[in-house]
Amino acid sequence: MPGRRDRQRVPPVVSAEVIERWGNDCWLGMPGCTKHSDTTDHIVPHIAGGPTVPANLRRACKHCNSLRGDRTLNGYGALIHAVIGPPAGGKSTYVDMHRQPGAVVLDFDALAKAMMPGSDAEHVTVEWVRRMASGAWYGAYRHMVRVTEPVELWLVKTLPFTPRSPRLLDEWIALDYDITVCDPGKQEVMDRLRARGMDVGKRLQAGVLQWYRQGITQTGIDVRLKARRSRLAALGLANGPDAGPIGSQPARPAW
Ligand SMILES: [Zn+2]
Repeated sequence: MPGRRDRQRVPPVVSAEVIERWGNDCWLGMPGCTKHSDTTDHIVPHIAGGPTVPANLRRACKHCNSLRGDRTLNGYGALIHAVIGPPAGGKSTYVDMHRQPGAVVLDFDALAKAMMPGSDAEHVTVEWVRRMASGAWYGAYRHMVRVTEPVELWLVKTLPFTPRSPRLLDEWIALDYDITVCDPGKQEVMDRLRARGMDVGKRLQAGVLQWYRQGITQTGIDVRLKARRSRLAALGLANGPDAGPIGSQPARPAW
């Protein structure tokens, strides 16, 4: 585990001040949270240069502290956007329209296409190439979520979960990612796939059906993100749910 060896012990007197100022409830509230805070977590991880001072510390349960690892809280390092939605939902187009110059984009389709240079397939359907692209996506993802430079990052993925992280969406909300759902509706998605003149492979159709089984909506996510941002604001870690898009103002306090 990156950072474990270097994890800074927090002096009890400092932890006491953290509890005094922000309470002892787990600040992360990730899936499986025990609510019982028995650790003091660095907001900007110690390994990334985050100091052991109260402003950079909050109380967390052992489970959430370990599940978070050294992942960046959005805005306390990289600005992290996640774009999800069914195949042909317009995710890549959305990113192209909204990303700033210099942004880094992790997009499964782009990786798959890069692995078949010269191919003009909209979606690569060769199964083993898809597996390669999937491996590249996850390998890059593990590093991407730990970037502490103030850069803009975009994660593009159909479904917000993985076999190992069935509640990834909840983790993203806990870490305050800016989450966009690109979903023009099932009929439109199927029409788009057909209109591309491609054989709508079983794999893609299954992806479409799997997406619509989840019942994920932008409205539902926005309600949860708003609640999360209120909680972070109460912890002195965000500007509140009405502060505008992440990145429009610096969320990170000075210390
Ligand atoms: Zn917890």
